[in-house]
Amino acid sequence: MRTWALSGRVIHPSGAVANGSVVIEDRRIIDVAASPPAGLPHIETGGLIAPGFIDLQINGAFGYDFTADPASVAPVAAGLPQHGVTAFLPTIITSPLETYPERLVALMAAATPNQGATVLGVHVEGPFLNPNKKGAHNPIHLRLPSPQSVAPLVATGAMRLMTLAPELPGGTETIAYLRRHGVVVSIGHTDAHYDDAHAALDHGVTWATHLFNAMPTLGHRDPGAVGALLEADQPVIGLIADGIHVHPAVVRLVWRSKGVAGISLVTDAMAALGQPPGVYNIGDQQVHVTPIAARLASGTLAGSILSMDQAIRNMIAYTDCSVGDAVRMASTTPADVLGLSHKGRLETGADADIVVLDAQLQVQQTIIGGEVVYQAEPHPQPTSD
Ligand code: ZN
Repeated sequence: MRTWALSGRVIHPSGAVANGSVVIEDRRIIDVAASPPAGLPHIETGGLIAPGFIDLQINGAFGYDFTADPASVAPVAAGLPQHGVTAFLPTIITSPLETYPERLVALMAAATPNQGATVLGVHVEGPFLNPNKKGAHNPIHLRLPSPQSVAPLVATGAMRLMTLAPELPGGTETIAYLRRHGVVVSIGHTDAHYDDAHAALDHGVTWATHLFNAMPTLGHRDPGAVGALLEADQPVIGLIADGIHVHPAVVRLVWRSKGVAGISLVTDAMAALGQPPGVYNIGDQQVHVTPIAARLASGTLAGSILSMDQAIRNMIAYTDCSVGDAVRMASTTPADVLGLSHKGRLETGADADIVVLDAQLQVQQTIIGGEVVYQAEPHPQPTSD
């Protein structure tokens, strides 16, 4: 048994920040104290101690695409702690329906425990999407939803979250089936209007995939899916805070309307995260990546090149929210979307998934299950001659 403590400015589950110590025993947090317990090995971080970030939507990174190569989840999981991500849902976009079980099984087989960020299951985005809002998904593979169609995916046990268009014929029955089998259902790539979106929430949809993108938007006489999702209390929305997918002014409006418990920051990152600009793939689609955005040749956005730590810094810059609130939107709220009360918070009994940030909110150290898995290089010291 190994017990030690990490001290600094601690972000509490309430969002409050105070000097303190997080006491870790093996894989868990056993106490959050005002000062380090006497006699324990103790690290004074000099930084901000935050719960590890949880990304519910990421298509790949570092040159890898999960849809094209499910086994690439391993190197991506190993690299994500540099951005403070301690757990994630690798996301597979629209593919031929019969290929999903194989992809899901291959991905989970490659997701080695204790090798970087934890794979919490797969986010399956498609193929039950509205062709009118296909985004970067290949329309050839789109299908109508049905319990029979999703059953083989559910049977793998790997699918944690599914994005679908609930207004499609068979949508309601499919949502009910997924809920019965413990899969979180998200509305996305949808042509649902205001009433359809409210109906979807009534039927068990609890998340919304990249709010505003690939859905009917807010009009003052036609509130659309966005109007329903902003107005209703229960859905948590996924927000890509890169300043490209949603204008900073609209991010501010969403923040005022949904608050901490209603927003989960996602990256929707694709293979080019951490790579130079150039031509990449998402699924079987070619994507042109500049220093700021990833788009199909048509100009349609195709994921992002946003990292989770940058999303937090952007959220603070756009909304003036507190650091504690920005961090909770990247940790506590996504954990709650998945029903994981032992992740995404620094409290007794929670998993010791922790990020240490410096004053500029750059990631200094990442701890997963009580083990330090990432340590930033020390800043170059000025030399005297
Ligand atoms: Zn999408």
